[in-house]
Amino acid sequence: MELKRTKIVDIFDPQLVGEKVCVKGWVRTRRGNKNVQFVALNDGSTIKNIQIVINLEKFTEDFLKPITTGASLHVDGTLVASQGKGQSVEIQAEEIEIYGTADPEEYPLQKKGHTLEFLREKAHLRMRTNTFGAVFRIRHHLAFAIHKFFNERGFFYLHTPLITASDCEGAGDMFQVTTLNLGDLPKTEDGKTDYSQDFFGKTTSLTVSGQLEGELGATALGAIYTFGPTFRAENSNTPRHLAEFWMIEPEIAFYDINDNMDLAEDFIKFCVKYALDHCKDDLEFLNKMYDNSLIERLQSVIKEKFVRLTYTEGIEILKAANKKFEFPVDWGTDLQSEHERYLVEEHFKRPVILTDYPREIKAFYMKQNDDQKTVRAMDVLFPQIGEIIGGSEREADYDKLIAEIERRNIPMKDMWWYLETRKFGTVPHSGFGLGFERLVLFVTGMANIRDVIPFPRTPKNAEF
Ligand code: ATP
Ligand code: MN
Repeated sequence: MELKRTKIVDIFDPQLVGEKVCVKGWVRTRRGNKNVQFVALNDGSTIKNIQIVINLEKFTEDFLKPITTGASLHVDGTLVASQGKGQSVEIQAEEIEIYGTADPEEYPLQKKGHTLEFLREKAHLRMRTNTFGAVFRIRHHLAFAIHKFFNERGFFYLHTPLITASDCEGAGDMFQVTTLNLGDLPKTEDGKTDYSQDFFGKTTSLTVSGQLEGELGATALGAIYTFGPTFRAENSNTPRHLAEFWMIEPEIAFYDINDNMDLAEDFIKFCVKYALDHCKDDLEFLNKMYDNSLIERLQSVIKEKFVRLTYTEGIEILKAANKKFEFPVDWGTDLQSEHERYLVEEHFKRPVILTDYPREIKAFYMKQNDDQKTVRAMDVLFPQIGEIIGGSEREADYDKLIAEIERRNIPMKDMWWYLETRKFGTVPHSGFGLGFERLVLFVTGMANIRDVIPFPRTPKNAEF
């Protein structure tokens, strides 16, 4: 009878020593001498490899020849306590089946030491490396933690549409969605593109945020969250922006800005703690290889109370700072990540929640303060990252919201359904958006957002 496969993550169980086991995976390395060969096998279930010990009395050199880095194997053998250093157990191979070879002349992932830039070009294979295996296992655990956090608190997971007809969300430039033949566009009498002939009968785009529909959910179900892809035609090549990224957007009825800040803080702390509790091996690897203050930084974020201060107070600190910034700061300007990081990393040495931003640099739906100049926005700023969360209490007053939409010349007819939340049973409510990849960046300590999503979409890059 065929032996049942054991995942490598489960093979280091002392109870299995002496048992016959079956493992399957990809060869990381093979080394040894004329009597015995050692294969490090990895199956992606853990960063750890299992060592396969191959006795040359049992297998010929010819048979072993195609077992090179990247080849895939099925190995049956006995799990024994290891005699060598570096591993607790190993498998004495009894039967080996080679599923597929990986020609060393062609397989790009030979041993270690490839740069992250090189591996980005090999995104179809990079998940087979220690680094990317670790990053994407952590990414999975964080996604799971997010659902767990909200589910345990009675939030409903709401699926908001990815294709939208409103182009006034204002969060970023949009990608248009059309089935019209771009080489031969139908025209109206006045020479414009005739979108009435398009698939939806009007212009549509990929969403930049699920928030507006999220507010419809919150003002019906009480507390919802979205977790889905969002698209922004960001034409800036930064280490923190993607054209396609995943966003988590909770929206909660009867929450004011303080409730919202408490939620954001609890939420991030929960996710970071979940990663520390469930991704120990992977985090230790990343800590060792890339950033030896990573784990310490994650632990300190869980412990510290986030600093809360207003944008105006933040600007005062930045202006008084004895530091030359690339972009000048003055009240009314949007903060650049260098400013955010100064506040977090140098001034407070803790995460910061900045509130009450100037109205002109924030979206139309944020609750207006009595000073007429600021709105009840809250951005959470993190070490290494800068802005990780952007949110606000929403303007719940119908007349004030309308006045703001008119002042900004936002096309109103597209917004009728949104306005009805304020027309029928309006309530105070709040929410925020967390860029999932920014959270993964923070938790993994990676420096570039392209390295925390399996297949990044950025300007001039949609390979894979
Ligand atoms: P930034 O100033 O960094 O561009 P933003 O003000 O445009 O951010 P929001 O519109 O508030 O961001 O979006 C909410 C969150 O989504 C941000 O706090 C950030 O975590 C994330 N985010 C925004 N744009 C991107 C992007 N292009 N790629 C990845 N994450 C993003
Ligand atoms: Mn942006």
